[in-house]
Amino acid sequence: MEARINKGVLSLTEGDITKQDTDAIVNAANKSLRGGGGVDGAIHRAGGPKILEECIKAGGCETGEAVITTGGNLKAKYVIHTVGPVYRDGNHNEPALLRNAYRNSLNMASSKGLKSIAFPSISTGAYRYPLDQAADIALNTAISYLNDHSDIELIRFVLFGTEALEVYENTLKRLS
Ligand code: ADP
Repeated sequence: MEARINKGVLSLTEGDITKQDTDAIVNAANKSLRGGGGVDGAIHRAGGPKILEECIKAGGCETGEAVITTGGNLKAKYVIHTVGPVYRDGNHNEPALLRNAYRNSLNMASSKGLKSIAFPSISTGAYRYPLDQAADIALNTAISYLNDHSDIELIRFVLFGTEALEVYENTLKRLS
């Protein structure tokens, strides 16, 4: 599914983030930036040790912030590592922190002159953010970015499994 927003395209697809050919892919990392499970593990396995070396040099990353490394052996030239919030009950600033993770990743891509970026569904795995609420924040943040800027041409969400894809598709239909 695709939506044209201002000068850019927002696209939703089912698949594996590590296979994407966008300028950057985003990693749902943890604060240590030392690798982990889920998307994080998959990216480091596919991209090779150079990414972890650069992450270790960067030192770490606060929740809602973003750090950029090269893409190692991946098709994508860069990996933007961001840390989503661990979901507790929704009353611990989780929505704003999740919004920041998306926004700061987009700002990082923009500051490097990148034109295309692929996101996984941040925080909805080990960090247990309810998928429908996370989809709403993810897509709203992407739509506002495209409405306010004309530099990034493609924002792609790569969803793992048909259920996640459906939730994102229904949310996008509602928002656009
Ligand atoms: P977090 O710790 O931010 O919750 P996870 O990596 O545990 O991050 O999960 C985030 C989302 O990414 C989950 O919805 C999970 O199903 C999905 N996911 C896991 N592996 C991949 C992959 N290779 N490509 C895209 N999405 C993935």
